[in-house]
Amino acid sequence: MRIEKALESKRHEVDFDNLNFGEKFSDHMVSFEYRDDKWQTPEIIPFGNISVSPAMCSFHYGQMIFEGLKAFFTGDRINIFRPEKHHERHNRSCKRLCIPPMEKELFIRVIKALVTLDSEWVPRGKGTALYIRPFVFATENFLGVKVSDTYRFMVITSPVGAYYKEGLNPVRLITSGAYTRAAKGGLGEAKTPANYAASLLPAEEAKHKGYTQVLWLDGIQDKFIEEVGTMNICFVIDGTLITPSLDGTILPGVTRDSVIILAKDWGIRVEERPISIDEVIAASKDGTLQEAFGTGTAAVISPVGEIRHHEETIIVNDGKIGGLSQRFYDEITGIQYGELEDRYGWILSIPL
Ligand SMILES: *Cc1c(COP(=O)(O)O)cnc(C)c1O
Repeated sequence: MRIEKALESKRHEVDFDNLNFGEKFSDHMVSFEYRDDKWQTPEIIPFGNISVSPAMCSFHYGQMIFEGLKAFFTGDRINIFRPEKHHERHNRSCKRLCIPPMEKELFIRVIKALVTLDSEWVPRGKGTALYIRPFVFATENFLGVKVSDTYRFMVITSPVGAYYKEGLNPVRLITSGAYTRAAKGGLGEAKTPANYAASLLPAEEAKHKGYTQVLWLDGIQDKFIEEVGTMNICFVIDGTLITPSLDGTILPGVTRDSVIILAKDWGIRVEERPISIDEVIAASKDGTLQEAFGTGTAAVISPVGEIRHHEETIIVNDGKIGGLSQRFYDEITGIQYGELEDRYGWILSIPL
């Protein structure tokens, strides 16, 4: 690996007590190419602009994918949460977008080296983290539609503040109405920018109506719950944890996977199956809907306080966080910050 260090750190320009999500970037980045049928020598270079041709095919046809994971400061080490699982998903996304996969060893080695070099950028406070954003884009320059022969893999990192400054605030969701996020056989299970492009207009309209995010229903019957924009979704009904099964339209979240593993371990009944919005409304009416929450790397657990579907509005757990939601949050963040034992081998630990 080649490492070119920045001449001076920009760390002093950043107010670490007032960090928003993904607005400041650490001093270095990973950047290397795929060509001649292989990934070339990895490089870490100073963070900065890159120069590309306006004919670069990913600008025109969107052949690109990304990942998102986090590193946490524990006092004497930095913990990266489930890099192997993120690598596995990285390669699955690559496969769907015809992008060459990357060996696990290389993926983890470059991330570890970047986080180690920029370890001063991992914020110190509870609830804060260094967000790690690996991504790949096709770099061949042409306007014909075909699979690119060359790619660039990059990793940038961004210090992020506590997602919840005043406790876990429940979000308000509205169902997708006329829009769908992904169709069967489409890109829904790949972490690729196109899915986000599709979600922008519906998300704007939801915000305009006073809701935090869109609750996506399936594209065929407009009935089965899929996920929430940047999060997977779970319901607790009559003591059972229910989350939509991964049917090809839903992004396989690492946090979702962690919640399922914990719930099973705690002896909670878990069902991964199709769940309709009508079932959730019915459970709300008969009093068996206990909790609803989103899962994702950014917020870990995001309690859902309200769901609007056409003329129907349901309030979940009086708009407050539920006991199980809080327990998942405490357990996962406890493992991330090294306060609880890493019982599942989820942590890649870098000693300082
Ligand atoms: C990344 C993402 C999630 C959450 O996945 P995590 O691995 O838990 O962060 C959920 N839905 C979509 C569409 C995503 O892109």
